[in-house]
Amino acid sequence: MKTRVKTKNKLYLIATPIGNLGDITFRAIETLKSVDVIYAEDTRVTQKLLNHYSINKPLRSYHDHNEEEMALEIKNALLEGLNIGLVSDAGTPLISDPGYKVVDLIKDEYEIISIPGASATLTALTVSALPPQPHTFIGFLDTKENKRREILNTFKYVPSTLIFYERGTRLEGIVKEMYEVFGKRRAVIARELTKLYETIYDFNLGEKLDVELKGEFVLLVEGYKRKEITDERIKEEVLFLIKQGLTRKDAIISASKRLGVNKNKVYEVVIK
Ligand code: SAM
Repeated sequence: MKTRVKTKNKLYLIATPIGNLGDITFRAIETLKSVDVIYAEDTRVTQKLLNHYSINKPLRSYHDHNEEEMALEIKNALLEGLNIGLVSDAGTPLISDPGYKVVDLIKDEYEIISIPGASATLTALTVSALPPQPHTFIGFLDTKENKRREILNTFKYVPSTLIFYERGTRLEGIVKEMYEVFGKRRAVIARELTKLYETIYDFNLGEKLDVELKGEFVLLVEGYKRKEITDERIKEEVLFLIKQGLTRKDAIISASKRLGVNKNKVYEVVIK
């Protein structure tokens, strides 16, 4: 076990609003004012936020396509003694946004402070009326259908509210795939949270969607509800896990955990 280092100059991960400019903490503003340089996903977006709060700071861009190179640049800037702020276009950096690489790169040498604030995940979860605990944040699904279905299958029997980020153009197709994999379940679409056209839709997977497809969306799906687990179901789960590359022994252990069924019972069914 290792305690993280404390250093004089630090990297600050600063949460910014997800739409409504009022949703930023005093501490985030103080920190944006105090750092020497701010690394931003899209400097134009962040410049607008800084202008709104009359903050004047040098901005550097840090995005998915230059993340490795910029992580090194941040490390060098820390070595020179600078204090660095990192923000994304909206919400909490790293959460379906760039930032992870630099955190991983510098964590043993420089102190990292996360300044909490808005995130679409928790905002959507709290309003959804789906069970808040446990919840699983999945974020964006893959653009390829076979990969998407694979991920959905991985979470099919997880008894936890599932949270996805999605774009309007893909929403209908993905909800349909979810119905095919999960069957009928409660679901919620949280659209344009904190903004003028904020709308929350309650529906069941399988139902026809009647959603304004413009804007930003969080999609939440009720977790798996444990029913009586049949031998057929146990067999299906073990076969699925073997297909995922697990040995028979590991598939039995994993299926027993995933389904909450005694290991010997799973073994018996497999032998049969
Ligand atoms: N880092 C951000 C966070 O903490 O939530 C998420 C950034 S991710 C690139 C953008 C996605 O988050 C959008 O496509 C949408 O799924 C979700 N999102 C962000 N803002 C939102 C909002 N105001 N309403 C609904 N969904 C939002």
